[in-house]
Amino acid sequence: MITVHQALQQALERLREKVSTPLLDSQVILCCVLNVDRLYLIINKDKILTKEETEEYNKLIEKRFQGLPVQYITGSQEFMGLMFHVEEGVLIPRPDTEILIEKVLDRIDVNNRYNIVDIGTGSGAISVSLAKFIEGAYIYSIDISRKAIDMGRKNAENNGVGSKISFLNGDLFEPLEKTDIIGKVDILVSNPPYIPTEDIEDLQIEVSRYEPRIALDGGVDGLDFYRKIIDGAPKYLKEDGLIALEVGYNQSRKVIDIMGEKAKYIDIQITKDLAGIERVISGRIKK
Ligand code: GLN
Repeated sequence: MITVHQALQQALERLREKVSTPLLDSQVILCCVLNVDRLYLIINKDKILTKEETEEYNKLIEKRFQGLPVQYITGSQEFMGLMFHVEEGVLIPRPDTEILIEKVLDRIDVNNRYNIVDIGTGSGAISVSLAKFIEGAYIYSIDISRKAIDMGRKNAENNGVGSKISFLNGDLFEPLEKTDIIGKVDILVSNPPYIPTEDIEDLQIEVSRYEPRIALDGGVDGLDFYRKIIDGAPKYLKEDGLIALEVGYNQSRKVIDIMGEKAKYIDIQITKDLAGIERVISGRIKK
C-alpha cells in the first residue's frame, strides 16, 4: 500500500531520465487517475491509494515512460483558455497556434459577421476559439481525418459553439463544393502539416511516434499544403478576404513567395511566436 506522496516519488524516479517535466507529469497523471486537482495532491499527500488506483497509475506512468504524450494520457489540452479533448490520432493543440488566433482577432472587427474556413481543423482548436471570440462567426471546419472531425465536433459542443461550426470531412477545399460559400469566404485559416518528411524522425518521440503523421508531414520541403491552399484560396475568398497561415521554422519567406505566385495579396504581415520564430503569415487578397 502506498500513499500519494510515495506514488509521486516512484513516478518521479521512473520518469526523471526520460521526460523534461517529470514532477509535473507525475502529478498531472495522478490527478487524472484520482480525478482531483493538483492542490488535492499537496493537501492529501498521506492518503493511501487503493490497489486499483495504484495499478492504474503505474500503467499510465509506464505509457508516459514509453513516450506517450501526457495529453493523450489525460485526454485533454488547454488552448486559448478553453479545454479541448484530445486522443491519439488527432494532433495536440500547441501554444504557438494561439499566435494565429490572436493575429486573426487583431486584423478584424470582432463585432462583424464573418464566414470563416479552417483547413485541417484537427481537434478543432482554431475553429472553436474563433467561434468563441467572434460573435458573428460562422465556420466551415474541414479535415481529411474522420476522427478529427468527430473530435472537433465534440470540442465545439463542449465549448458551447456547436451551432456556429459545420464540420466537413474531406480533402482541402473539396467539401466546400457542396456549400454556397464559394467566393464568399471572409477569412481562411490553416495550420497545415508542415514538417519536411525526412525531419519527422528527428522530432521528439512524443511527436514522431505518437502524433498523427498525416497532421505533420508537409512533403519533401514541408510546403506541399501551402501550395495547395494558396492555389485554391482565390476561388473561395472574397475581395479583401483575409488569409492567415501558421508556418514552420524557416518557411515564412517561402510561403510569401508562393502567395505572390498565385494571386495579389496586400498588407502581408509576419508574426513571430514567443521563441522569436516567424510563425504566422497573414494578408488580404486583391482579385
Ligand atoms: N507544430 C507542430 C510541431 O512542431 C507541427 C504541426 C504542423 O505540422 N502543423 O510538432
